[in-house]
Amino acid sequence: MNSTELRGFFGTVLAGILGIVSLLASGTCMQAADQIRVLIIDGQNNHDWRKTTPVLKACLATTNRFKVNVITTPENGKPAEDWNGFRPRFADYDVVLSNYNGQSWPEPVQKSLEEYVSGGGGLVIVHAANNAFPEWAEYNKMIGLGWRGADYGARVTTDKDGKVILKEKNQGPGAGHGSQHDFAVVIRDRQHPVMSGIPGEWMHVKDELYHGQRGPAANMNILATAFSAKSTGGTDEHEPMVWWIPYGKGKVFTTVFGHGDYSMKCVGFQTILVRGTEWVATDKVTLPVPAKFPTATATLSIDDVK
Ligand code: ZN
Repeated sequence: MNSTELRGFFGTVLAGILGIVSLLASGTCMQAADQIRVLIIDGQNNHDWRKTTPVLKACLATTNRFKVNVITTPENGKPAEDWNGFRPRFADYDVVLSNYNGQSWPEPVQKSLEEYVSGGGGLVIVHAANNAFPEWAEYNKMIGLGWRGADYGARVTTDKDGKVILKEKNQGPGAGHGSQHDFAVVIRDRQHPVMSGIPGEWMHVKDELYHGQRGPAANMNILATAFSAKSTGGTDEHEPMVWWIPYGKGKVFTTVFGHGDYSMKCVGFQTILVRGTEWVATDKVTLPVPAKFPTATATLSIDDVK
């Protein structure tokens, strides 16, 4: 190698190193700047939150789109002063995800969440989180429908074509579910950014199929339903599974899927969860629909993909 060749060789090596360094730097910076700050709240639930929160956290974190923190409330039955330390700083996050179903939160926390969402924050409600707080009026407006008795409020279903049917309180059943099973999900708004690109019908991994949810049901935008078959203890109606509601400048995204960690491992559940969380936080969806997705006849768990 003569001196010219040597210079050329070192030049190439140097350019390569600089390229890698700048790639790493821009990659790191972009990732930090782009990451959506998520706060998961758990600590009480009639479900195994110690098992399900890690599934939710991993599902969000593996996209690299989110920076996830978890705040755990005091356990049920703890003295009131233990709750003095539970004052989440919602404003530090782009979106709050509730995996909580338990005691009422202190009033300052309730007011703080109301201000946060009405001011433009995102809220995501997973499964039994919609069972919580029947006495908190603003929370019920945010979730639209919750696990309540038939005398609590309106009930919403759709016909087979997706036309929304609203029933007044005491008409039809209150909240319940039949036996857990795999069931078909029908996307009702395929133009919506969260649902765009997701197959119109696909099989969800074994879960509770909630029915008869009740609430103020105002401004509900139903994104997906499932048919609740009599044969599994259901209502013979198309029940809402995924919906969103505007609340002031913010958005509340609810999925009633997610009874067990196994249900949450459904690729369909995870896709909707990460895209819904991104959407309420940023008003956009960049996260892709995985190439391997459940079909109209077969479920798909992340355990099957790995
Ligand atoms: Zn459940």
